[in-house]
Amino acid sequence: MANKVPNVKLNNGQLMPVYGYGTWNFLKENQVRDAVRVAIDVGYRHIDTAAIYKTEPEIGEAVEGKIKDGVVKRSDLFITSKLPNTYHDPEWVEVALRKSLKDLRTEYLDLYLVHWPFAVDADDRESYFDMKGLRPSKVTLLDTWRAMEELVLKGLVKSIGLSNFNAEQVGRILNDKNLRVKPAVNQIEIHPYFTNTELVDYCQKVGVVVTAYSPLAKGGEEITEQKPPDTLTDPTIVKIAKRHGKTPAQVVLRWGIDRGYTLVPKSVTPSRIKENLEIFDFSLTSEEVKEINGLNRNYKCINYLPFKGYPEFPFTWLI
Ligand code: NAP
Repeated sequence: MANKVPNVKLNNGQLMPVYGYGTWNFLKENQVRDAVRVAIDVGYRHIDTAAIYKTEPEIGEAVEGKIKDGVVKRSDLFITSKLPNTYHDPEWVEVALRKSLKDLRTEYLDLYLVHWPFAVDADDRESYFDMKGLRPSKVTLLDTWRAMEELVLKGLVKSIGLSNFNAEQVGRILNDKNLRVKPAVNQIEIHPYFTNTELVDYCQKVGVVVTAYSPLAKGGEEITEQKPPDTLTDPTIVKIAKRHGKTPAQVVLRWGIDRGYTLVPKSVTPSRIKENLEIFDFSLTSEEVKEINGLNRNYKCINYLPFKGYPEFPFTWLI
């Protein structure tokens, strides 16, 4: 099957499909449910979500349906979710995970990520989802990591990892003298206009698998007024796409695979969900990879600047 997605081995031996289906920014009811059904039908086996996306209940419905229909078994799927910032307090970490498990209608997660390194306090933990009444929390990264490790030891999640952590923060977890479970993944923004090379190289050097989010450089387009610079009409991308008889999106996504990391593109559109998976029947030359690397302009789709004053805000160069 041309769409067959290879696996990468995580640092605990678990296999993860290098390509997942992203589920942020579904604005209408039942959209993500129907899109996940399409994604599973065309061959995606790795689904990326987070409590804050508010998509877990519909994903759970879609996944449960596909399992009942005999299309997939739970063990064929790799499901990732993420700990919200208002649940970093060790006593709340398992509460958050159990809510995600319930919504996703599953007994375990394949991967659970600390969504952001900074901890947030709020009178109502769920108010974080609407960005209201928030303040910095005193919980430290290592406090939270201790509680994340417990989830693995209890068999509730197979792997744990990080998201939006900078190199110093990844290193701090890895070098902790009391470390019991290594972070398996760091999920970070990467696309041709934000190649994030130093952080990618660092994570790869220390055995933490990198996952690229917003890999098409279109993160947040649906919910903000921003019009990001368009990688898909970039003359270099268009030229390389023509050469391979592929679409610009397929070239941008394949570039990530050829740089050696994993990706989670999102689309609500059935034809694009399929198009984005059809990247395992060609590859870019090393010259083409270098040419696309050269498009970097340090453009970040996701900057989370409202949290720039919080301890552990990761993008220190943006402040
Ligand atoms: P993205 O995947 O770069 O872009 C999604 C956008 O690209 C959507 O507007 C989609 O449109 C469009 N698109 C998809 N395929 C296309 C194609 N073949 N041709 C033209 N346009 C196409 O951005 P993202 O959703 O921000 O990132 C992907 C996933 O990464 C998220 O869904 C989420 O799972 C994860 N993520 C994680 C974090 C984090 O903090 N860890 C942050 C952001 C994202 P349509 O949907 O209209 O087709």
